[in-house]
Amino acid sequence: MEEGLLQSKELYEYLLRTSVFPRESELLKEIRDITAKHPLSTMGTAPDSGPMVAMLLKLLNAKNTLEIGVFTGYSLLLTALTIPDDGRITAIDPDKKAYDMGLPVIKKAGVEHKINFIESLALPVLDKLLEDENNESSFDFAYVDADKINYKNYHERVLKLVKVGGVVVYDNTLWYGTVAMPEKSVPEDLVSYRGHIVELNKQLAADSRVQIVQIPLGDGMTVCRRVC
Ligand code: SAH
Ligand code: CA
Repeated sequence: MEEGLLQSKELYEYLLRTSVFPRESELLKEIRDITAKHPLSTMGTAPDSGPMVAMLLKLLNAKNTLEIGVFTGYSLLLTALTIPDDGRITAIDPDKKAYDMGLPVIKKAGVEHKINFIESLALPVLDKLLEDENNESSFDFAYVDADKINYKNYHERVLKLVKVGGVVVYDNTLWYGTVAMPEKSVPEDLVSYRGHIVELNKQLAADSRVQIVQIPLGDGMTVCRRVC
């Protein structure tokens, strides 16, 4: 899982131990345990962002949602467990293998019928969705957690797909804290995405179509509510 951004490891562990893990579904824990065996396990959604996403989904009464970047399915299962039985998640990721790792748990949870998994890069799927006018302003919620290079491209499309009053969450918007580091001291493996995240954060702050809040949970998530 991704590491938190709080000032000390102890504080982060306190948060997890006190309010996150005691309320985390056993099924989500199972996905975390399965994910730990994946070589890129650190990509899995941080468990402390889970309750925030679930809270937003409930407050919105979200029924029709979009997820870009599924990996082994932590945020997907969380969403599927939170939305109503007739809810629907359009989930996009080219990595079917990672999805298949978590799929048995999704099946066991009895929520697979809510999921439309599309094995693909996200941009062509979003463009396809936008070809049908009925999809415009039809989603209550979108969770964007894929290739950071494309966040700005996703933003333009997802804003059309999410309804006014709906919410888009961008994950990893504090990029392991590197957004506030001088470029020289950014670890090499984080350099390439850092610039895209810094640009996105500027762009979102200047975008009057959305109300935003930058939340320092997980690796930083930006919640955008479409206002017009
Ligand atoms: N939300 C996941 C974590 C996603 S990790 C969780 O809760 O664990 C990022 C994912 O984005 C990876 O699975 C990767 O395959 C996917 N991804 C990368 N490029 C993508 C693209 N262009 N379109 C859609 N997904 C992409
Ligand atoms: Ca993430």
